[in-house]
Amino acid sequence: MNISSNDNRVYHPLKLDNGLKVLFIQDLQSEKSAASLTVNVGHFDDPWQRQGMAHFLEHMLFLGTDRHPEPGTLSQFTSQHGGSCNAWTGTEHSSYFFDINNEFFYQALEIFSRFFIAPLISEAATEKERNAIDAEFKLKLKDDSRRIYQVHKETVNPLHPFAKFSVGNKETLADHGRCISHEIKDFFNQHYLANHMTLAICSPVEIAQQIVWIKSLFADIKSNLNIKAAIAVPLYLPEHQAKQIYITPHKHMQKLIVSFAMPNIDGFYRHKSVSFLAHILGYEGQGSLYAILKQRGWINGLSAGGGINGSNFKDFNLSINLTDEGVAHYRDIVESIFAYLPLLKNPNAHFDALYQDKKTLLDVAFDNQEKSRLLDWISGLSANMHHYPEHEYISGDFLMQCFEKNHWQQLLAWLTPLNMRIVLIDPDVPTTATTAWYHTPYSIEDLSPKWLQQLDRIATPQPDMALPEVNPYLKQKITLLELESKSAIPQRLINETGFEFWFKQDNQYRVAKGHFYLAIDSLTAVKDVQHMAMTRLLADLFMDKVAEEFYPAELAGLSYQLTTHQGGLTLHTSGLSTNQLGLVDKLLNHLYDGRYNPQRFAEYKKQLCRHWQSGNHNKPVSQLFSQLSASLLPWNPTPEDLAQALEQCCFAQFEQFCTEILSEIRLQALLHGNWQRQDAERFINMISLRTKTSAKNAEFAKPNHYLTQQTQHRVLLEHADHALVVYFQAATDEISEKVSLMCLNHVVSQDYFQYMRTEKQLGYLVGTGYAPLNSRAGMAMYVQSPNYTADELLKFHNTFSNSYADNILQLSDLDWHQIKMGLLTQIQEEDKNLRVRSQRYWLSLNNNDLTFDMQNRLATCLNSLTKQQLADFCKQVFNVNSIKMTLLSEQSKKNIQTVVQQSKSL
Ligand SMILES: [Zn+2]
Repeated sequence: MNISSNDNRVYHPLKLDNGLKVLFIQDLQSEKSAASLTVNVGHFDDPWQRQGMAHFLEHMLFLGTDRHPEPGTLSQFTSQHGGSCNAWTGTEHSSYFFDINNEFFYQALEIFSRFFIAPLISEAATEKERNAIDAEFKLKLKDDSRRIYQVHKETVNPLHPFAKFSVGNKETLADHGRCISHEIKDFFNQHYLANHMTLAICSPVEIAQQIVWIKSLFADIKSNLNIKAAIAVPLYLPEHQAKQIYITPHKHMQKLIVSFAMPNIDGFYRHKSVSFLAHILGYEGQGSLYAILKQRGWINGLSAGGGINGSNFKDFNLSINLTDEGVAHYRDIVESIFAYLPLLKNPNAHFDALYQDKKTLLDVAFDNQEKSRLLDWISGLSANMHHYPEHEYISGDFLMQCFEKNHWQQLLAWLTPLNMRIVLIDPDVPTTATTAWYHTPYSIEDLSPKWLQQLDRIATPQPDMALPEVNPYLKQKITLLELESKSAIPQRLINETGFEFWFKQDNQYRVAKGHFYLAIDSLTAVKDVQHMAMTRLLADLFMDKVAEEFYPAELAGLSYQLTTHQGGLTLHTSGLSTNQLGLVDKLLNHLYDGRYNPQRFAEYKKQLCRHWQSGNHNKPVSQLFSQLSASLLPWNPTPEDLAQALEQCCFAQFEQFCTEILSEIRLQALLHGNWQRQDAERFINMISLRTKTSAKNAEFAKPNHYLTQQTQHRVLLEHADHALVVYFQAATDEISEKVSLMCLNHVVSQDYFQYMRTEKQLGYLVGTGYAPLNSRAGMAMYVQSPNYTADELLKFHNTFSNSYADNILQLSDLDWHQIKMGLLTQIQEEDKNLRVRSQRYWLSLNNNDLTFDMQNRLATCLNSLTKQQLADFCKQVFNVNSIKMTLLSEQSKKNIQTVVQQSKSL
């Protein structure tokens, strides 16, 4: 098998007698084990009269098997032992995966294997779970991507399985005479065949042992020799092409999608011809489509290449975020796209050079691969096993053999007006119909033949259009630097009032990459709500201003981001360590230059206000959370307040603000990665030089509101669902209290889910979470329901929590031990890659943990926590009279207002 040069895992592909393709992976360094099984069945296989069946079956597999009849056994078992499990159902595939502490891997595999051999699919569980499916469907009713997807489904060839409704609900999955569970079983028996499945597993266990396990556990999955029939009908017939589609969004959105139909393009993967085409059309540097359309004031963003794809279709999309001007000029934008195409028609040597750039990057990416989260990686692998031959399971995503002219001509031949659909999404478009299920308003009409002919005749590019240049950032050699010191944690190289610089050379992951963080705290940024809003706007405008200039840097694997935090701005750069100093230097230069374009100011101000105002379309639980954090963090106002404040602000005020925000600042920086001490010193000199006009003496701490009494908020929401959030805040910053809250959350989360969602069927969105605000620990419990009011939800919640302490006392010593071990693994989880490690260092600095040992302190404290102590803590926290904040939704057609009620007891 082809693997990366820095990959020290052992791989062994094997096909079992029943046809199951398995990839065994031994990773001696892995702290966890994981498995993922992908089956070539998805919602395309749903019977026409049973839409949502594949998805329903996916849920049912978790709800009991012959040897483990209890619902949720795998979820319980994995969460008790430091892991988790999940699944998804796609168009043509469904996937199931879990991870767990190494010593429990075999047991978990045994539970998992029964999913695919003997699921119970009992009538009782089916009846209940149908409500969960229905709630999952309702949860997404207002979700624009679903709403737009449904329009797509209703405007294609109605005989193609893409036209089916994928999620399912109470209606499509209702009982017909007898319980639907019988049909689900038939569906399982027909489709869950070993010869349509792939399994990837990874563990420190030896390959030979892994093989013995898998053969004994998975050999009983049934198989037959039938090859799955290919989809025989095309996605689009000629009458579905050359169309104009209008869609009204739910949230504010102005978007143009120009879509070209292609057949299956899997055969191009060794050359990545389609992504190369997307790279050229989606380029953002000088002369590109993006740069030209942005200059005209028509667009805010452009991406190329996305779109649905499957075994007999691929949409090649140009997706464009429009300005108000752009909506009026959308036909001119389409004409510009066709005017750019002639540049691609006669590929010369320049194309080979551009292709080589992309290839170099992909090679660097392959050889400097960082480990991602095991569960994400393994689930991606089992899906890839359906698309690539055995020796390319791992490398398939990274292959780029050569610029293939035949592919290129073939691709260009598909980019024609007659093969195109145009989708315009805007609040003011004319609509004549609404979709099924999601009720999306839309209309569809023919594109005028005259205009199509005009488009077809465009043969010369517009004068300012140009192909990308060869990337200047790829010229420097990429090398790993010698290790200098063995220091285990970052060192503070500068410790002055107003300027701290922390540095650490990476000695663990050894990739030619690094991360640089710079926090700029400024009292101007938090003077009042308007200043906080302007800080957000500044970050957006800055990113917009520098986008074109640094696009080649981004392509060369360097990324940068200016964001806001409570109290100021954070600059974060990452990627290849070579060239990063130069990038930061140029970025700071732009920031201090402080000049912005008034047109872009007006555009971004409008966008940001709209974005904040559309917060009231978010799902109820999210709205309650945003109210919660606004109540407890004074520097984190609600979106509505921010929008109101920004609306009052003019360009002159903003310009004034841009100079003020950089006077009286405090700087904190972290450099971590493939750099030596002398590089750190170069960074320090550069920062000192760039910021020398700023007074660096600001001293301040982020304010927190602390709950001192029981508080209840009723939040008026315009949404059909109801919601409840209960938030407990620690009384002190003591480690012991942090640990008690973490542990309580860990113990309660599965049970809460089980009670509120599975047993009482209150809603799909149910959960608990350890949720600190700034450095103060906290825990949140939430539920959103289509059927019960917030007050009813609160009653259920109280019934659950009133007696919960007894559950803790009733835990056996073994259970208690395992719960602690499970949490301990989470706390002590090794940082998987350089990025995660950098993030942790940076978070420690933000929380003033200057010894970087919070993990150890938490672990030590957790070790000494007893069951009795946790039960006592639980009694105190879950007491009806305890200090907490309760947020309840209240339905309203009016604007959002908050009514604050405070009461001592309920
Ligand atoms: Zn689901």
